Amino acid sequence: FGGRPPGRMAAWLGRAQAVAPPALDGVSLSIHAGEAVGLVGESGSGKSTLARVAIGMLQASSGSRTWKGLALQPGQMRPLGMQMIFQDTHASLNPRMRVLDLIGEAALAHRLALPANRRAFVEQYLDAVGLPRAAISAYPHQLSGGQRARVAIARALALGPDLLICDEAVAALDVSVQAQILNLFQGLRRQLGLGYFFISHDVRVVRHLCDRVLIMYRGRVVETGSVALLIEHGRHPYTQLLLDSLPERIATRSGTANPAIAGVAEASREGCAFAPRCRHAHARCLEQVPALREIAPTHFSACHLDQP
Ligand code: SF4
Repeated sequence: FGGRPPGRMAAWLGRAQAVAPPALDGVSLSIHAGEAVGLVGESGSGKSTLARVAIGMLQASSGSRTWKGLALQPGQMRPLGMQMIFQDTHASLNPRMRVLDLIGEAALAHRLALPANRRAFVEQYLDAVGLPRAAISAYPHQLSGGQRARVAIARALALGPDLLICDEAVAALDVSVQAQILNLFQGLRRQLGLGYFFISHDVRVVRHLCDRVLIMYRGRVVETGSVALLIEHGRHPYTQLLLDSLPERIATRSGTANPAIAGVAEASREGCAFAPRCRHAHARCLEQVPALREIAPTHFSACHLDQP
């Protein structure tokens, strides 16, 4: 775990087999202080399950979690330093509360001592996320999707996090608004030294923000490494499938579809779970689950093509 010297903050470690489907299998992850780690996979890959195990909303059947070197007990909810931002702001923001209360109440609910001037306390977070101060009196339904996303971020910031877990946090937004929110995340990272665990089905989103990425398929991490490394030298056939959705690759494919995309995600009873969709599948793939192994410095892949 980690690889950093003791004393540096490591965000958390999950080595988990979740009780609720989709099951996670042997997933191990660490996030260092100020690091931005992305998790990419399609629906049903286990991304959100992993996030929920991390914050204690789901209990893993085995494994452990640590935060800043201290073990978290099974079922223990996240520490204040770890905050989560969800995709659906309609569900995560109480429609009956004004922005003033949405942000202020979050701090009160966690027994943080609010300054006497609660309005000024909230306004500083509106400023931090680029919302006009007039928004303090608005209800969520009076705001645009991008503004609601900013409120959700402001509410998380009010709790003084070290790590933001963002579960498809920009997926519901228009592309131009997505870019604005991603720029906001980047700016906050520079200003506050925030770390991120950024979950998305979209490689483009993760590429914009993250240092390192894990590619997940049906509950397993199939490839991991730095974002730059995987974008240029992604080895796993599933990673390559995801990378083929990048605009620059579509532009150079001369209009031909990626043959792997035609496949359907289905469970393979034995062997590599990706085998039913993989054009490189061979006999060994149907019998033996490939282990995640280091194939180059800091680059790990779980594919028999890369292993003896
Ligand atoms: Fe394809 Fe086999 Fe590699 Fe799985 S292990 S991704 S089936 S080549």
